[in-house]
Amino acid sequence: MAVAKQKLSVPFDYDKYLRKDKLPHIWCPGCGHGIVLKSLLRAIDNKELSKDDLCMVSGIGCSSRTPGYVDFNTLHTIHGRAFSFATGLKLAKPSLKMIIATGDGDAMAIGGNHFIHTCRRNIDMLIIVYSNAIYGMTGGQSSPTTPIGSIATTARYGNVEPPFDICEMAKAAGATFVARGTAYHTQELERTFTEALGHKGTAVVEVIDSCPIYFGRMNKQRGASEMMENIEKNGTFSVKQADKLPDEKKEGKLVRGILHRVERPEYCEQYDKLIVAKATK
Ligand code: SF4
Ligand code: MG
Repeated sequence: MAVAKQKLSVPFDYDKYLRKDKLPHIWCPGCGHGIVLKSLLRAIDNKELSKDDLCMVSGIGCSSRTPGYVDFNTLHTIHGRAFSFATGLKLAKPSLKMIIATGDGDAMAIGGNHFIHTCRRNIDMLIIVYSNAIYGMTGGQSSPTTPIGSIATTARYGNVEPPFDICEMAKAAGATFVARGTAYHTQELERTFTEALGHKGTAVVEVIDSCPIYFGRMNKQRGASEMMENIEKNGTFSVKQADKLPDEKKEGKLVRGILHRVERPEYCEQYDKLIVAKATK
């Protein structure tokens, strides 16, 4: 009897991108970082990028542990300096597809200056900012994205500093691709990463993420699932929804999606042209 051919959906093979000997990972139960990594690996697969052509660089923090778990070329460096190391690597080997894994504290405070100048130069790299509004690994201190009024170990009565808008900062500094996703909207995040990986120039993707252990506990969001629900219900709206929603429904929320995409000469290519021009003079 003829058996009707059925298209079977093949489970995604995460193992081929992971260093299984480095597992289990250090992330706390309920942390959003693993979800972000999952979307990234699927995007890398969508783009059919070779592991040997990928290079992931990080600074310090929970999110900066990501390179340890992926089977690419990887570099775990010092606080806030992933951008500098990645710039050097990219100049030495421009064929590498650079990915930076960084946190809101690592990228916006310690590495803020490096972040700005990477965007200004438009160096071809994807910068993923795991944005959970707190320093996780170093003990729950307030970061440049901690909302006003939120509690942190360094803001026991509530944070009084206005937070940075990472995407606005990236755009103002010259990044040519700027997007925001969340650890809740995983398929959308995969699509955003896929687009970002195909971009030539500095691509910044801020991912609204959750730290249930520090931010959650100190701010009465006790469970990981509750934090995810908050991201879904209260945190963001999509670019598509932006035109339809009244202003009062958007107040206090962040917009998700691709927010900025332009073309501009890429730094390494400009540099190479200069070398060729000088050599042939
Ligand atoms: Fe995640 Fe927070 Fe734990 Fe770090 S401290 S792994 S950010 S939950
Ligand atoms: Mg953080």
